[in-house]
Amino acid sequence: MAVIDVIEPATEQVIESLEQITPAALEDVIARASVAQRQWAAQPPQFRAEALLAIAAAVDNNREALAQLEARNVGMPISDARGAIAGVAATFRYYAAAPERLLGHTIPVAGGVDMTFREPIGVVGLITPWNYPLTIAAWKVAPALAAGNAVVLKPAELTPLTSLRLAQLAVEAGLPSDLFNVVVGPGRTIGSQLVEHPGVGKIAFTGSTDVGKDIARRAAEGIKRVTLELGGKSAALVFADADLDAAAEGLTGAVFGNSGQDCCARSRVFVERSALQPFLEKLEKVVANIVVGDPLSDNTQMGPLISAGHAATVQSYVDDAPVLFRGSAPTGPGFWFAPTVLHPIDDDHRSAREEIFGPVVSVLTFDSEDEAVARANDTIYGLAGSIWTSNAARSLRVARGVDAGALAVNSYTSVRIATPFGGFKQSGMGRELGPDALDAYTEVKNVFFNTTAT
Ligand code: NAD
Repeated sequence: MAVIDVIEPATEQVIESLEQITPAALEDVIARASVAQRQWAAQPPQFRAEALLAIAAAVDNNREALAQLEARNVGMPISDARGAIAGVAATFRYYAAAPERLLGHTIPVAGGVDMTFREPIGVVGLITPWNYPLTIAAWKVAPALAAGNAVVLKPAELTPLTSLRLAQLAVEAGLPSDLFNVVVGPGRTIGSQLVEHPGVGKIAFTGSTDVGKDIARRAAEGIKRVTLELGGKSAALVFADADLDAAAEGLTGAVFGNSGQDCCARSRVFVERSALQPFLEKLEKVVANIVVGDPLSDNTQMGPLISAGHAATVQSYVDDAPVLFRGSAPTGPGFWFAPTVLHPIDDDHRSAREEIFGPVVSVLTFDSEDEAVARANDTIYGLAGSIWTSNAARSLRVARGVDAGALAVNSYTSVRIATPFGGFKQSGMGRELGPDALDAYTEVKNVFFNTTAT
């Protein structure tokens, strides 16, 4: 039996060793999920709503233990992990309202009545990354269950622990068994089996753009539904009339948060030329003050990177790049990396063009609004972005001009449970969160009812 050692990135020690699921066992999970799904979809909507509320309550009651586990497994600061777990409970609460609001239409037609229904897809496969494991799992599990589906969740091999715990808590809270399944195993085998399995009607994937493309290609074979939340190289556009303190201070979270392992990281900051020097001076102070260290300490603002391999990849983006200044990081065990600012840097330098997924930001300079928008859009990605200005008309004009799915004006917040989230271009396909997520877990059925028959 193959085993996966789950490592704590701050100490490099094994937290837990888990058995990988076998292909035969996964077949069995999918078959049982299919039976459970039919019973679940037949339950009254209130039953599904109450089950989701019970999961939310179970998360709340286990908030600190889940936060500690997430912080240890990801290396995420405990204060961020507490916020993340509160967000998981809130996601289940938000979608608990959905079963009773899965409304259809009645459409005027000749000869009868026409109505639409939003039917569940069946068994859906959920494949998640290691950077915000339980947050991203909840974004998929909650709307999928609310809409009457069963789920098979395959978390990243590096960070399966909180997803496994959530599934246990859900069953203890009263969710019928076999509806919420977590399978541990490598993407290339177990993930692929989910993608290709004819009993899985849909794949909701969050991860890298390369794996997303591969999944989309293979899902096409069975015309399987897919939603993809992929990589990013998001821009912040800082105009000279902006609140420069807020724009600089906010980068503590917006590009160094979770050690930059954030698909929405504002890793390209375009600053209007006349504001460049004051902005850099402010940013240097911000970076010098970022507390990098033990994820379990309340004061920590940034933990380690997820693995030694990832730290080497991030380092490769800094080796040949113009480093203007850096913050600090611990030495000794742990995959530490100091917050790093690159400047002056060309738009075409690979560090300014590719997703680094580490605490590294490129600061670039612009002279006009049109130029800033064009350069922000000169990327294969289109996930998030921020516009910093005190000119309201310009903020809306620029927001409409930037090709990205999640934009914020005078803010770096891209994600709210009640609002849609997803990417333009190669950052993805489909939307999670908000009311839109339910579209991704339902099929529209149209029924014509003949009223002329006697
Ligand atoms: P990854 O693509 O390597 O892995 C993601 C998941 O896919 C893991 O569970 C992995 O086991 C699985 N997988 C890998 N190969 C597979 C295959 N061939 N078939 C099926 N499943 C497979 O990504 P990662 O390194 O875990 O995460 C980092 C990436 O995720 C970054 O690119 C980041 O931008 C992206 N991300 C995007 C969002 C978003 O919402 N857009 C959010 C978080 C992370």
